[in-house]
Amino acid sequence: MIKDKVAIITGASSGIGFATALALSKAGAKVAIGARRVDRLEELAKKITSDGGEVFYQKLDVTQRAECDNFAKAVLEKWGSIDILVNNAGLMPLSLFKSLKVDEWDRMVDVNIKGVLYSTGAVISHMKEKKSGHIVNLSSVAGRIVFAGGSVYCATKYAVAAFTEGLRQEFSVRSNIRVTSIEPGVVATELNDTITDESLQGFVENAKKMEALQAEDIANAILYAVDSPPHVNVNEILIRPTTQA
Ligand code: NDP
Repeated sequence: MIKDKVAIITGASSGIGFATALALSKAGAKVAIGARRVDRLEELAKKITSDGGEVFYQKLDVTQRAECDNFAKAVLEKWGSIDILVNNAGLMPLSLFKSLKVDEWDRMVDVNIKGVLYSTGAVISHMKEKKSGHIVNLSSVAGRIVFAGGSVYCATKYAVAAFTEGLRQEFSVRSNIRVTSIEPGVVATELNDTITDESLQGFVENAKKMEALQAEDIANAILYAVDSPPHVNVNEILIRPTTQA
């Protein structure tokens, strides 16, 4: 069902975004991959091409509204359509609030919230006009449960969850645009590398001991949602490692 559909994936240079680009491409979609580390995108693009897929890549910093707009414009120029947007770019520098890591709060708000708004803003008029499209947002278990050390990160993921439901109410009924919130538990990716607060080392160690989800597990969940028939709107998928509390 997603054969020849055009999918934009933000934060595709590693982890879930990388695996999602591969999964959607294997299922026949044309994938447009963005992130700041262009060397990684280039590697992924080579792999997709050598597997017979169609790919477009361009540097994308989702905190820059103009870059989000230019990315969408370039994809429309190349393929004439944008059918799926996976708002995946994100970071998780967990910290206790008392550590006052203000720069990290700013980055989380900029990437995890404003990046999702800017990227969605860049495609929504096109989707609204053609009365179809699918926006997939990476929220988290942390968008449902708050924990100490995660107050700001959780706030950003609660915001993504709220925004996703707002999009559904505004665009699903009237404009036939599907909206999905993906809510993973612990996934083995580079995400924990952004944690600098020493008091969170226990969290990092525990996460390492657990049999975490793999990025491919989340990519499969995203594929399920976007590959469902057009009348099916998979609103939320909550997915934890079996042994996560
Ligand atoms: P990774 O750290 O492996 O990937 C994060 C991606 O985000 C990278 O490709 C990075 O690319 C990109 N990114 C960061 N900042 C920007 C930016 N300003 N502009 C564009 N891209 C950016 O982590 P995951 O794959 O685990 O995370 C993907 C999403 O899944 C995130 O939203 C995360 O919050 C969510 N999630 C992850 C969980 C986990 O346990 N791993 C659990 C629940 C949710 P680059 O640095 O090249 O720009």
